[in-house]
Order: sequence, then C-alpha cells, then structure tokens
Amino acid sequence: MTAFWCEHAWLPGGLRSGVLVEASDTIRGVSEVDKPPPDAVRLAGVVFPGFANAHSHAFHRALRGRTHADGGTFWTWRAAMYRLAARLDPDSYLRLARAVYAEMAVAGVTCVGEFHYVHHPADGGRYDDPNAMGVALRQAAAEAGIRITLLDTCYLAGGIDTPLAPEQARFSDGSADAWARRISAQRPASHARVGAAIHSVRAVPRAELALVVAAAARRPLHVHLSEQPAENEACLAAYGVTPTDLLYEAGALGPDTTAVHATHLSTRDIELLGGSRTGACFCPTTEADLADGIGPARELRDAGAPLSLGSDQHAVVDPLLEARALEHGERLRTGRRGRFDPGELVTALTAAGHAALGWPMAGRLAPGAPADLVAVGLDSVRTAGCAPSQVHLAASAADVHTVVAGGRVIARDGHHETLGDVGKLLGAAIEELWT
Ligand SMILES: [Zn+2]
Repeated sequence: MTAFWCEHAWLPGGLRSGVLVEASDTIRGVSEVDKPPPDAVRLAGVVFPGFANAHSHAFHRALRGRTHADGGTFWTWRAAMYRLAARLDPDSYLRLARAVYAEMAVAGVTCVGEFHYVHHPADGGRYDDPNAMGVALRQAAAEAGIRITLLDTCYLAGGIDTPLAPEQARFSDGSADAWARRISAQRPASHARVGAAIHSVRAVPRAELALVVAAAARRPLHVHLSEQPAENEACLAAYGVTPTDLLYEAGALGPDTTAVHATHLSTRDIELLGGSRTGACFCPTTEADLADGIGPARELRDAGAPLSLGSDQHAVVDPLLEARALEHGERLRTGRRGRFDPGELVTALTAAGHAALGWPMAGRLAPGAPADLVAVGLDSVRTAGCAPSQVHLAASAADVHTVVAGGRVIARDGHHETLGDVGKLLGAAIEELWT
C-alpha cells in the first residue's frame, strides 16, 4: 500500500486541497488531510485521475513533422500514411508502439484505445499468428506501463462499392465473418481489453455491418464517422442515408459504441447519436491538422452523447491540449467562451474516456478505481499563477511531473521510469522505418 498526498486533487465532486489517496493497484481510500503524513509520496500541484487517450493509431506517429511541405488534403495525407503502413512488421511495430505509448505515459495517459487495422503482412498474406500485430501492440502497452483496449478493426473495402487498393490489402480479413473468427482468439489480460471497430462506412459494406455489431457483443465498438464531407456524399449517393443513419439501421449505435470525429453531422445525426447514448470521441489536434473541420461537440453532449478525447494521428501527444482544443473549437465555431466548463473537460479526459474504452471504474479518484494519478505542476512558466481549478486550460504535457498507473510510478518529469529517454526511443523507432 502506498499513500499519495496531493496538494490539490480532482475528485468526482470537483477540486479539493490536501487529499490523501491510499492505494495498492487500486485506490483503497481517499480522504482530506491538511498535512502530508511523513510516509506519504507528496504530489505537488493538481492531481488528476489518469487520462484516457480514446483514439490512437500508434504508427501514424512516424508521420509527425513530415507531411507539411506540399499542402494537399486529408486524402493526400492518407497516401503518405499508406506508404508508411507498408513498412511495418510485428517487430518494428512493437518498437514504434512502445515508444509512442511511452510518450503517452509521460504525458499522463494511463489507458489507450488503439484503433488497429494493420493486421496482416504487406502482401496481404497471413502471419503464423494472424493476431501478431495486435500482440505487438499489447506488449508495447505493457512495457510502457499503461492499459490498452485493442479496438480490432474490420476493414474490407477501399470505399463504398470500391475494391481494396493494393496498399490496403493488409488491413483486410476478406469478410466480416473471417475478421470475427480472427478476433475471437484474443483474450483479455489484466492490462488489456479487446474491443472492436468498424473502420468507417467506407471500409465496411452495408451488408457486413450487422455481423460486426453482433461480433462486438457488448464490448467497446468504435467507428470513424463523418470525418470528411466526401464520406457523407458517397454514403448518401450509394445508400440514400447519412453514415450515422446507416449505422443506426445496422444496430451499431448505443452506449457501448463511440463515434470518432463526428465532424459533419445533420441535426438528425446528432439526435440519433445522443438519443442512443452513443459516445463521441473528438481528436481536435488531428481534426485541425488534417483540415477536417470542427464538429458539433456541445450539441452532441447536450443530446446525450458522452464525449471523450483522442490524439489519433499523434501530430501532438498532449491530452491537456486536446481538452483545451475541444473548448477552443467551440469558441471558434460559435463566437462564445465557456462552451464546456472546466469540470466537463476533466470528465472527457478521464472518466468518459475510460468508459468509452470499457474500463468503467477507471478515470476517477475514488475507492475501487485503478490507482492512476497524473500530477500537473503549478510552478512552470506556463502554469505559474493559474487557479488550480483551471490549470488544465493552461498546462501542457510538459507540466505533467509524475504519472502513477496501477499504483506504480511510471513517469517522472518527462522521463519514463523503465524505458528511459522517450525522445531517443522514438527517434530510433521512427528512423528505422524511413531508412
Ligand atoms: Zn482515426
């Protein structure tokens, strides 16, 4: 048992000062005490529950800072991403994902939702273990000391009524039935849960959607939804309904489902998502980087959709920035401030994100929750002078000074406790892929 004394802590009822958290791998007790007991680990600043990064494609990290020279669109960016995907194998993906998850760990992420679709060899064959790439991702999370929900993704088509392009062959199992058989061999572990994903209505034909929903069977089911207007146009042209309506018809909406991006929605789409308590995962830095647009986050929340946050393509890995950018997007879109109050942003970063990934107890500083704590300093050039209750609207990942996952310190001052210098780890893993 370890006692952590928090100068300030974000409890389920809001910010408190002088909080003692007693924990093994889970939190055993939370109490308010003025002075740290002599044997307690002292955490200065504001301690949040662990952050959930609800949408990640780990390999996209290798594109950071390499796609800005020639302009283009989401679709030209995607061509570069496919060239990178073609270079991955289970060993190189383990090295890259371990470094990316270590980057998340030092930024305060204690659980990642990995939306995983690079399943098979680049020639479209099969590894000896057809789940080898997923196994590498799970191992990477374990070595980085964080939890993972592997959102194993069904990806069958190159677009609506469009066959797979050669560079997409390794994403496909051939049919939803074959995908379901492959993922049925995966088992949960103490640090890992297995969820499912529909890549998008572009990549899973209408006739196969219900099968994916049935195979997901009350596990987290995630889907990229209406990230680009072209997806909506193709769906309307082929099926006469929006992507949200198509998912609704297939029985894919509900509280176990999370729609990722949810950028270009109709009023009816918002009602269908909110009314079914389908979650929405916003990835604001990616949506800005890829020129996607700004989705109707406030309207979705008001309609009943829980909101979570993801770093998606990892143009940056900074959960605090994602939370702030969610609010900033709303301000830019509406001309009004305070569209989300500071507590709602913490919920998106923590409890709602974990719930979207199938860890409903996590993301809160309360007895029974996993002992995940993220301490943000109040004494840096960015945060000095901030009100503790609003520090997450000013701090960056560089202000995260201590990260505890499952009761164990995994990162201190940007340094990973077991993996060491994360910049070096990332540099080596990425350089290997491009040379
Ligand atoms: Zn994505």
